[in-house]
Amino acid sequence: MSTRSVGAVTVTALRDARGPYVAWESAFPGASPRDWVLARSADPAAFGHDGRWLLDFRAFLVRSAAGVTLVDAGIGPAGAPAQGWAPVPGALPGALSALGVALSDVDTVVLTHLHSDHCGWAVTPSGEPMFPNARYVLHRDEVAWVTDPVASYVVRPLRAADVLQEVPGETVLSSLPSGERVTVIPTPGHTPGHQSVVVDGGGTQVVVTGDVLVHAVQLVAPSVSYVYEEDPGLARASRMALLARDAELATPHLTEPFVRARPAGTPAPRP
Ligand SMILES: [Zn+2]
Repeated sequence: MSTRSVGAVTVTALRDARGPYVAWESAFPGASPRDWVLARSADPAAFGHDGRWLLDFRAFLVRSAAGVTLVDAGIGPAGAPAQGWAPVPGALPGALSALGVALSDVDTVVLTHLHSDHCGWAVTPSGEPMFPNARYVLHRDEVAWVTDPVASYVVRPLRAADVLQEVPGETVLSSLPSGERVTVIPTPGHTPGHQSVVVDGGGTQVVVTGDVLVHAVQLVAPSVSYVYEEDPGLARASRMALLARDAELATPHLTEPFVRARPAGTPAPRP
């Protein structure tokens, strides 16, 4: 199932693409043989027959009476900055229209971070915001850190159109009279200004993680670093904090869009 409800808020997974990447063992060199056994059991489809990691590239749509928020914007069209390594073009615009969502319906775009597989559809190839009525929420540390080609392809057009909202930290995006809240929280480490989105309904919580965890091996062994984390120690701390929540996790790259770090209602494991 690709949708979860948190009270009156729905969170829907949108697949932009799926494809092979590097050998999994080279991406997570600190994982033990036992970690790989557990990871393979948690997400068997991530292990390609040729030794390569097979992954989804996914965004999430968060909808309620308070508005329509897109979390992340995929690998993008042909020619987008992810072209050198990801299977562009992605299918995100078609996935939105299949749900009956027009580009103009989206009022908020949260970019968890500015790696090229998370912001490809943020703008059009001609340099306009792809979502004409949206504000684009980025952590200010991410904007300060990013370099070309993403800085020119994504940040410059958003700034020129005056739709870039740089946040300094935890920020409430929307709330409903019935109590549900959608909040962006800083989860640095994978990149300096990485952020995640918490959909909180009081009793239930869904966290759209971004790349705090990128593979099932980091679900079964949260201390395992990914080679492309900018600050592995900080990334590990952010991952431990998210996995300690009694929440369902909405992840961009695991085969199943929604996973749990532990059974609902059980206490957090000690790291
Ligand atoms: Zn990613």
